Order: sequence, then C-alpha cells, then structure tokens
Amino acid sequence: MRFPERGMDEEEVLEELERLTREDLTFDSGRILGSMCTMPHPLAIKVFCRFIDRNLGDPGLHVGSRRIEREAVQMLGDLLHLERAYGHIVSGGTEANILAVRAFRNMADVEKPELILPKSAHFSFIKAGEMLGVKLVWAELKSDYTVDVRDVESKIGDNTIGIVGIAGTTGLGVVDDIPALSDLARDYGVPLHVDAAFGGFVIPFAKALGYDLPDFDFRLKGVQSVTIDPHKMGMAPIPAGGIIFRRKKFIKVISVLAPYLAGGKVWQATITGTRPGASALAVWALIKHLGFEGYKEIVARAMELTRWFAQEIKNTAGAWLVREPMLNIVAFKTKNLPRVERVLKGRGWGVSAHRGYIRIVMMPHVRKDHLEAFLRDLREVLG
Ligand code: PLP
Repeated sequence: MRFPERGMDEEEVLEELERLTREDLTFDSGRILGSMCTMPHPLAIKVFCRFIDRNLGDPGLHVGSRRIEREAVQMLGDLLHLERAYGHIVSGGTEANILAVRAFRNMADVEKPELILPKSAHFSFIKAGEMLGVKLVWAELKSDYTVDVRDVESKIGDNTIGIVGIAGTTGLGVVDDIPALSDLARDYGVPLHVDAAFGGFVIPFAKALGYDLPDFDFRLKGVQSVTIDPHKMGMAPIPAGGIIFRRKKFIKVISVLAPYLAGGKVWQATITGTRPGASALAVWALIKHLGFEGYKEIVARAMELTRWFAQEIKNTAGAWLVREPMLNIVAFKTKNLPRVERVLKGRGWGVSAHRGYIRIVMMPHVRKDHLEAFLRDLREVLG
C-alpha cells in the first residue's frame, strides 16, 4: 500500500475504517469467550479520551498526572495489603513481569542469573529471560496444576535471582500455593514475584465473597513484587498493566536517567519511554468510582456464571472439566478436540484450544445468554 499523496476527508477515513474492521470480533457480540480483555468501563473510556495527550514519560510536564499515577499505585498497593507501594501503571502484564525480572536480576548481581518459575507461567517470562539474559528454570506442576513447591525448592541454587508464583494462571486460572512459596523465598533469602496479572482484580474480591483461595499478596513477607493488570478484570482500557514493588530499592535498580526531557531530567524505570498518562488516569478513576464494593459485584457475577457453566459442562456428553475452577475460568476437554475447535471457530466463536483444552474466561462482557448459545453449538458439535 502506498503512502497517499493527498489526504481523504475525515468521513471517508472513518467509513473505510468501519468497513475494514467489520471482520473483527467485538466484545458486545458475546462471541469472545476466551480472552482476558473486555469492554472497558464507560467512565474509563471518557477519562481516556479526555486526557489522551498526557505523557508519563515526561512527568515534569504533567505533574498532576504523575501524582495521579502514584495514587493509583498506592490504591493497588492497598488492595494488596502494602502500606507504601512503589511501582507503575505500565503497558500490560508482559511489561510488568519484565520489570520484576529485571529488578531481581539487577539486585542479585550474579554472573549466570536463573529464575525459577512454574511450567504454567505466562510466555512473557520467556521474553524476559531472553532479553535480560536470565536462564529460566521450569518447575513441575502437581496433578491439580499448581506448582510443585518441593520441586521449586530442589531447583534453588547459588545463581537463583528469584522465584515466580502465579495467582491465576493464564490457562486454567489456578492459584499457586503462594504462602508456601513465600516461606521458601524467606528461608533461602530470594525474592518472590507473584504474577497476579489476571487474579489481582479477582482474588481479593472473591475472598471477600467467601471463596476459599490462598493468600497471594504482600501480607506474605516473601512477596517482593506483584503484577496486577487493570486492563484485564479491572475493566480499564488497553494498555494498563500494574507492577507493584514492596521496596523502593527494586525501582532504583531498574531506573535510568532520562536527561533531556522538556519537563526536566528524571529517573525512569519503565521499559517504554513515552507512555500514556490517560491509562493511569483511567485506572485511578475506575478504582475511585467502583471501589471495593463495585469490583466485588463484578467478581460475584463472574464467579456465579463460572459455577453455573462448569456444571453445564459436567452435564454435556463428550466434554469434561480439566479441573474444578478456582477463579472465573472454566477449562474443558472434549472428544475429538481439533474438530470441535474448528467447527466452533467456523461458527464465529472466539475460543481456542491450547494444551488440549478450551477455556472460557468469564469476563464482565460475558453473559448467560451468550454461554447458553455457546453450549447449544458445543452440544450440537459433540452430539
Ligand atoms: N501474566 C498472566 C498470568 C497473564 O494471563 C497474562 C496475559 O494473559 C500476562 C501475564 C501478560 O499480560 P499482557 O498480555 O497484558 O502483556
């Protein structure tokens, strides 16, 4: 495609975009059942559009926005039981995890750094390992798909820069035994990073609703950093990830001097330089607007749908659960899975099979009638 010589008028451009995006699946269609993203909350969209020009890469210019990011980080820290939080609203869970690994590596100062992580960890750690020259040491999972803590222990050595635990795995929504990992981390004097990119906006509320889930946050003294993503269950617009550190020193070891900014030189810890202030402001606005009670309602609905849908899968011939759901993700296997996946995709369902199962993520845009329609198609394919 050529760079146009002359511009089209606005209307034409917009029409062209409407036409070209017609084949995109949208959240309001009810067809996207296997994503951890959702339609952002209307208030967040308003805030995002209103403050689209703010750049947190040059905080000296946007001092108010910088303060709001700090407050958003503090509120996330408070949710995670940390009195004084250090961190950033970043581009997503990937950047948050990379920052944690970078901080652990820089703190450790070993020649051949190694990170121990569950086999269920998100692929962002593969990027982190590759970019940062950190060897990934994969720990086995138990039959319930949580990490085998004894295997983690057996892998700790002189080169270990840290351990990772997952609070809400991408595939199954499983929460590792973070209290045991935290004890291990303290015993061996290594930091523990908890990847709660998904679970961070679910577990605190699910626990308040009475769901029996392990502790996963800064109440556990071995936990030094947590990834918690507002653009997943937090209903913030993309991009909005969160990285929270227990101590300032973790931020210090990953900060570089940005000397020539219009707003004055600053130390910068994030991977991205220029970065959207609108994201941090939208996160702040949503937390203020929804509060703990508002998020609790969102999670209550998602967990109820999860329970109902899991039971429906149990009642479906030819399909069975991988395990009982811990969070709002239902993963199931079927007979003849490749064909089932192909037919479902052909019928317009935004689901995919991975590691031998299909997973349905009960995001806020997913409704019971969407799931009923999906079940009708699934049963027909299996029937
Ligand atoms: N960590 C976990 C547990 C995830 O589930 C995901 C994404 O699904 C990520 C990290 C990466 O997040 P992002 O896609 O926002 O970079």
